[in-house]
Amino acid sequence: MQSELLYKYPKTILNKGTGFLSGYSHSLNPYTGCAYGCSFCYVRQMPVSTFRDGEWGSWVDVKKGAAELLQKELTRAKKKGDPVTIFMSSSTDPYQPAEHKERITRSLLEVMIDNPPDFFFVQTRSPMAHRDIDLFLRLEDRIRVSMTIETDREDIRKHFTPDAPAIRGRLKTLQMLKEAGVPTQATIAPLLPSSREFPDIVKTHTDRVCIDDYFMGDGSGGRRTANLGIRSKYEELGLEKWYEPVTYEKLLNLFRRVFSDDQIFVSREGFMP
Ligand code: SF4
Repeated sequence: MQSELLYKYPKTILNKGTGFLSGYSHSLNPYTGCAYGCSFCYVRQMPVSTFRDGEWGSWVDVKKGAAELLQKELTRAKKKGDPVTIFMSSSTDPYQPAEHKERITRSLLEVMIDNPPDFFFVQTRSPMAHRDIDLFLRLEDRIRVSMTIETDREDIRKHFTPDAPAIRGRLKTLQMLKEAGVPTQATIAPLLPSSREFPDIVKTHTDRVCIDDYFMGDGSGGRRTANLGIRSKYEELGLEKWYEPVTYEKLLNLFRRVFSDDQIFVSREGFMP
């Protein structure tokens, strides 16, 4: 889907960490809206989407002046003396296609190099993250970059999220980050049907994995996902057995064969500072 880019000048850039992200002092979204338009995206159900005319994925607001705002707000937050921990991003992808030209995410990272938070977590499904390895490295152990890998099956990825990047590119970026020395994680969220080789494939690209599903991770015990009608997408494939609250335990057991206990995280614990 082609997304329309709209240029906005927000008044603030850091939001308080709440709900699923209450372990963070702040969340940070360089854009509003997301060109990947994943079918299961719970943000579709939130006011940021429901109050807009266009379908989720068809528009993206570019936050102009984001770096200047961050500079001010970060300085103010650090002056308070409590740890400043930032999650990027909770309701957009910081490395979606617009970032190639707009470089909002990169400008935010540049601010953080000069004035580092205590911890910074980057969540993306985009191979473009490798562009910023130089900046990630300068944050040393204050950063973790988490790449979403919902499945190893491209046919499944195309069924659920056709506009998101192919899995192979995401895995390659994960490996590049790891080899460069950036702390990484593969996030299997929401877990989609995958092959039995999936854990071995992930293991060759990172040493840490987090498994999350709709029932634990959509912020409403699976209700938001049910409202989106996602079950029917499993039924179309005859794979309803993958859409159950117990499915993650089966996947977890498969991953335990190749990852040690201290390398596997479930839902919220995998995202914490
Ligand atoms: S990449 Fe994330 S924010 Fe973007 S549509 Fe998909 S789930 Fe939503």
